[in-house]
Amino acid sequence: MVVIGAGVVGIAAALQLQQAGCAVTLLDRGEPARETSFGNAGALAVSDIIPLAEPGVLKKVPGWMLDPLGPLAMRWRYLPSLAPWLLRFVAASRPSRVRALTEALSALLSRVNRDTEPLADLAGLNGIWRRHGSLTLYRDVAEYRLAEEAWREKRRHGVAWELLNGEAVRDADAALLPGWECAVKVRDWSHVDDPWLFAVGLFDAFRRLGGQFVRAEASSLRERGGRVDGVELQNGGALDADEVVVACGVWSDRFFKPMGCRVPLESERGYHVTLPKAGVSLRHFLQCASESFVILPMANGGLRLAGTVELAHRDAPPDWRRAHILIDKARAIVGDFSTEDMSVWMGNRPSVPDTVPVIGPSPRHAGLWFATGHGHLGLTLAATTGALLADAMLGREPGIDMRPYRVDRF
Ligand SMILES: Cc1cc2nc3c(=O)[nH]c(=O)nc-3n(C[C@H](O)[C@H](O)[C@H](O)COP(=O)(O)OP(=O)(O)OC[C@H]3O[C@@H](n4cnc5c(N)ncnc54)[C@H](O)[C@@H]3O)c2cc1C
Repeated sequence: MVVIGAGVVGIAAALQLQQAGCAVTLLDRGEPARETSFGNAGALAVSDIIPLAEPGVLKKVPGWMLDPLGPLAMRWRYLPSLAPWLLRFVAASRPSRVRALTEALSALLSRVNRDTEPLADLAGLNGIWRRHGSLTLYRDVAEYRLAEEAWREKRRHGVAWELLNGEAVRDADAALLPGWECAVKVRDWSHVDDPWLFAVGLFDAFRRLGGQFVRAEASSLRERGGRVDGVELQNGGALDADEVVVACGVWSDRFFKPMGCRVPLESERGYHVTLPKAGVSLRHFLQCASESFVILPMANGGLRLAGTVELAHRDAPPDWRRAHILIDKARAIVGDFSTEDMSVWMGNRPSVPDTVPVIGPSPRHAGLWFATGHGHLGLTLAATTGALLADAMLGREPGIDMRPYRVDRF
């Protein structure tokens, strides 16, 4: 069996399949987890059950678009290519769709901790998780009220949270500047300082347990009589495989069309700033609701600022102003900090317009599987994706309805 793509999704899938008794070869054109899985915000975002295209977000989009350094920006030259994806994004905001998509995301997110912990244990990585929960910050009650229905919906789906008001917000985290009237605390959130270390830790466990890694670029899938039975490589070689899993993040599109799949996959680019010497002792993972970015504590008073969305071609040059602007925004939340030795990064979230990842078999070819489109939730859903793939491949009951994740739903 070959898994193409050694980002966190492919690595976790390879490890889960190996745990299920399969002999797995993991293939990547580069080193493991050096793309989007390298610099994300490191969170198991277990409360993010509402799809991005919820009506509340859509209302804010026009205002955001007017500010090139705001929470959401678009390279206008890219609009013609992006238009079909955007239309589907808007279509996903119909209340009935939002309800169905929320169910689909909730079914995955409610099992994330159960799926992730055994893998982390196996790789000796449970100690690297910070389990202080997250705080979503609101400047005033009016801002919180805009999000209140979404929080209630989350509670209806079993997400536990509590509302903190006034002094209780300050008491929750001494690093916060005054001026936040409300915050929602989700205790079940956890995060790692460095998501790359987590992904590579899983990769090392996969190798230690006998998994093979091949460093080469897959150019196409080999197909005979309706069955995929191998992977052709850019270097002229090939790998035989009884089953192939495509887990190439935003680059998975290369394999959709030739296999007759039409998946609207685009990059939602995001940025981070890492500040190893910020000197801020923050306890919680902070989410700034109005600015759509997060601040996470790292070791020794370090911080990572991450988030925002830029709709642009994945190969377009980064706009580093979008990373640097996060520094001022974070200073308005936790006060001044040092930027010594800071670094910036950009990654391509592999996003489908309905926010629900693609997990499951090809409808047209035996032996072909997909694990992609994880958008903002790839680290969160990696272990769960692998567990569900293993169940589906081995004919085991997955415990949830897999239809919402089908590759042919678009
Ligand atoms: C700023 C930011 C913050 C984020 N924060 C979070 C967070 O807190 N929690 C969370 O859950 N998610 C978060 N995400 C999202 C998360 O990072 C992604 O969903 C996840 O990394 C996607 O993983 P992946 O394995 O699908 O893709 P990738 O990590 O991009 O890996 C794809 C791999 O496929 C390989 N590949 C591609 N084409 C080929 C080919 N033809 N042949 C061989 N190999 C190939 C690439 O080299 C790469 O290694 C964030 C993203 C960003 C940008």
